[in-house]
Amino acid sequence: MRSHSPPTYGSLSDARALLSARFGYPDFRPPQIRAVEAVLSGRDALVVLPTGGGKSLCYQVPALVRGGLCVVISPLISLMKDQVEALERRAIAAAFINSTLGAGAVAERMARARDGALALLYLSPERLEAGHTCAQLRAIGVRLLAVDEAHCISEWGHDFRPSYRRLGQLRQALGAPQTVALTATATPEVRRDIVQQLALHAPTVVVAGFDRPNLTYRVRRVQRAPEKDALAVELLKRETAPAIVYTPARNAVERITAMLGRAHIRATAYHAGLGHQIRQRAQDAFMEERTRVIVATSAFGMGIDKPDVRLVVHHAMPGSLEAYYQEAGRAGRDGQPSRCELLHAPTDRNTHEYFLAGTHPTRHDVDQVWCTLQQRADDTGVVPLAPPALARQVPGVNERCAAAALRVLLAHHLCQLVPPRPGQVHARLLATPVRIARELHGPRDFDRELLRALWRGVGPALSHGATIDLDGLPPGLGGAAMLVPVLERLASEQFVTWRRVDGGIRLAPSHRRRASPPIRWDQLERRRRTDVARLDAMEHYAHTTHCRRAYVLRYFGDREARAQCGACDRCLANTVTVAGHSHDPASRGRSRPRS
Ligand code: ADP
Ligand code: MG
Repeated sequence: MRSHSPPTYGSLSDARALLSARFGYPDFRPPQIRAVEAVLSGRDALVVLPTGGGKSLCYQVPALVRGGLCVVISPLISLMKDQVEALERRAIAAAFINSTLGAGAVAERMARARDGALALLYLSPERLEAGHTCAQLRAIGVRLLAVDEAHCISEWGHDFRPSYRRLGQLRQALGAPQTVALTATATPEVRRDIVQQLALHAPTVVVAGFDRPNLTYRVRRVQRAPEKDALAVELLKRETAPAIVYTPARNAVERITAMLGRAHIRATAYHAGLGHQIRQRAQDAFMEERTRVIVATSAFGMGIDKPDVRLVVHHAMPGSLEAYYQEAGRAGRDGQPSRCELLHAPTDRNTHEYFLAGTHPTRHDVDQVWCTLQQRADDTGVVPLAPPALARQVPGVNERCAAAALRVLLAHHLCQLVPPRPGQVHARLLATPVRIARELHGPRDFDRELLRALWRGVGPALSHGATIDLDGLPPGLGGAAMLVPVLERLASEQFVTWRRVDGGIRLAPSHRRRASPPIRWDQLERRRRTDVARLDAMEHYAHTTHCRRAYVLRYFGDREARAQCGACDRCLANTVTVAGHSHDPASRGRSRPRS
């Protein structure tokens, strides 16, 4: 079996020879060389290159040079299939195993791996977890483990996948083979998380290729936020090519769009609150240049690839440098000179602190919401209130904070949402049995029948109030459609009170009557601090007196960062704190209006 053959460590020239023979490329790109050397030397590695940077070759070539089986973890079935087909076209022995395959096909591919007839085997993490896959692969001997799209491992990443979270254990189960993790997400926390989760041993970290040399970065600081509007108008008037204006809040999108319209700049609003069709129309108008400027929240941009955006104006800073760089990076995709302008006022931070308070509730607020849920729960553990209604009724906690606290409880699976059901009502019996017997007979027999059925359904709890499914009562009563008018009549005569239940919240049975919720407060606090640190980094970017490009690239860990880029306002040494309508002459000289 191949696990007993000693590993052969190839050289870079072997790798180059193979690259040219099998892939037809004359040489590796510089960051690939560092990655390939690390993998060839037998070390663990973390390779962070932007999309299109050529991450695949960083494990494919070393795997082929060194021989043995390379297991590749990939999150998407479609990606896996494309990769394997591309390798097969180059006559490289590769296969994938995923949920689309039947047992026979899986067994056949495992047999090929066992016979040493496969160089690369692609698997989804779910597949690696299934059955005896890990044990079988361990017996075969995995010489290299490549984890593609490794940011999926991190809760900080935008694509977190719970199955990736377990890859650390799976790696151990495979015998802790040499591992290379690859991603295009360069944020420091994500990187730390990948190394930690996979328990990489002293990995070589390669972060490169994040610089966008054709982009010029500038920050215009103002003392008061309203001064930004005039600046935005000026920047957008100086430009005649497509431009994007970003702002964090939806209401600001609407306001700025209207403001630009008054200044005779064709602008369209885009944010997640606008409904799918309106968004689609806005996007099409921008792509087809029927509108020159799109004013948007961060919701705009995913999957939108307009190559000739010449200007991205941030009307206020985003909550993190990652978000800023991604949004600003939508300028100049075609490699032509383009500008990124950040308008910054001290009050920019407030919006984000408001968002942060909504994401990270205090312990006090979470405890209060928990208490309210415990008190309001009926005998079945259900609080018959939809989240917004509950959030309004938590003593001493404002609605937004209560909603945030409830989200934490839901995320910890301490309670769950009960979807609204049309027949569900919450009813409480007010009348005594004596009064019911005295008043509800003759033509009111049916009313008494209903009360009896309710009583049979929930028992004495009916006197305290209980949630009842009208459609679940005996069929003879006719279900909700028949019963609602009866309940209305009974309520008007003070026999019962009732209301419709628009969903609710069910306490997890094991946590009912628990004084305080079992929550990993340390973890929550760590997340809050990370978000605050991200915001601080963004703000520091706006205030730095050094090269802005170097600041961002260093933050991402890209070693190619130079101390001076010559193409940001700091390097050009002409930042001005704009008061009123004064502006910066250098940038006027540099702008290239398109006609
Ligand atoms: P990533 O996974 O980083 O997004 P890929 O590995 O899919 O990138 O590679 C992107 C493209 O770049 C592919 O078409 C690939 O063939 C090409 N490529 C990668 N490395 C080189 C190289 N050294 N020379 C020429 N083309 C390369
Ligand atoms: Mg890739």
